[in-house]
Amino acid sequence: MGTEIPRVFDFQTSIETLRAHHWRAFADAYSGCAFNCQYCLYKGPDDYGRHVRTIDATAIADADLGILDIGTSTDPYQPIEATEKRTRTVLEAALEQRIPVFLLTRGTMVERDVDILSDLAREGLVEVCFSVITLNEALASRLEVRAPRPADRLRTAEHLAGQSIPVSFHVAPVIPGLNSPADMDELGFELAGISGRHVFAAVLGAQRAFWGSFYGVMDDAAADCHSIDEFRAAYGRDLDFERSAAVTCGLGPASPTLMPLREGVTRGGALFVSENFPHLTTGALEGGIYRWKLPTVYDMAAWVSTRPGTVYWNEFDHWYQEFRPGPELTTLVKSLWDSRELFVGAAVKSDGSDGPVGYRTTSVVTESARTTLVARRAARR
Ligand code: SF4
Repeated sequence: MGTEIPRVFDFQTSIETLRAHHWRAFADAYSGCAFNCQYCLYKGPDDYGRHVRTIDATAIADADLGILDIGTSTDPYQPIEATEKRTRTVLEAALEQRIPVFLLTRGTMVERDVDILSDLAREGLVEVCFSVITLNEALASRLEVRAPRPADRLRTAEHLAGQSIPVSFHVAPVIPGLNSPADMDELGFELAGISGRHVFAAVLGAQRAFWGSFYGVMDDAAADCHSIDEFRAAYGRDLDFERSAAVTCGLGPASPTLMPLREGVTRGGALFVSENFPHLTTGALEGGIYRWKLPTVYDMAAWVSTRPGTVYWNEFDHWYQEFRPGPELTTLVKSLWDSRELFVGAAVKSDGSDGPVGYRTTSVVTESARTTLVARRAARR
């Protein structure tokens, strides 16, 4: 039996995760995160950054879940890792069991584990993704309160890339109006030059538990922002949440900030990928560890758009099962397919008849996920 890996769980449990994530198995070594980013989706109402705990080893990674995603809900290289070394233990277990790892961090301590990461990289079993949303130090220190400086993250990423460890970047969240178009272009260009591979982008998701305090943080940062008015136009202070999970703004308000990033990344020679928008899918990532990726809703929509006429479940499921999604995930996707919620915010529409639910491509996205959720709530009143 191999070394135990702390809390491995299936993250694909809702329409929100199907929109944003292309991995299934997530592993956390800690609960809480001392970096205390103001926009963190996992903060909750209490002080997320003050009570970081280790999580006991409870599970062996299930090979059927595929790749391990480390660092989605807590940073694996926050200060506690210096003494606890739980992340290093997970990496050792992954190497021992030949489990592929996608590691997401804002931490520079990852340099300590170059030895294991190099071994994993030699077998095509790892990618280290650095999260950087701005090169503006004043904004970074306001929004990512105790995380290492962006310039230090870039230096660390360069070091890893120099050791032949696959490196990518996550610009998440992209916050409309935070950076100027020129700054986003420069950010994309720099990240592309270091990675040489791909840069992901995800537009800010609002969450009920932290939205009020985050809006206040943005008010305080107004003088450092490119345009606080752009931010305010994209998101209301009093968002009407249908559920607790994240909702994003539409592509229109995000475009002035998002698209220059894409231009910078492309000019820098890397692939730009955004899971938020239907024409920017993860479909192009097929090599390396991405051979284990699952389709997001937008990848599904892109596939539907390749089919002639209306697509019904059996045809879709035949394609979907090639990704080995597992029975529970398949049931979730089927229920969203039947309720006509799966493709909300994508360029696919249902056939509208009373018979079996089918979908076909359309040339425009007529509604965003956010506006639809809000509108549904209003309609029920
Ligand atoms: S580093 Fe990640 S998990 Fe930690 S506070 Fe920031 S966004 Fe949240």
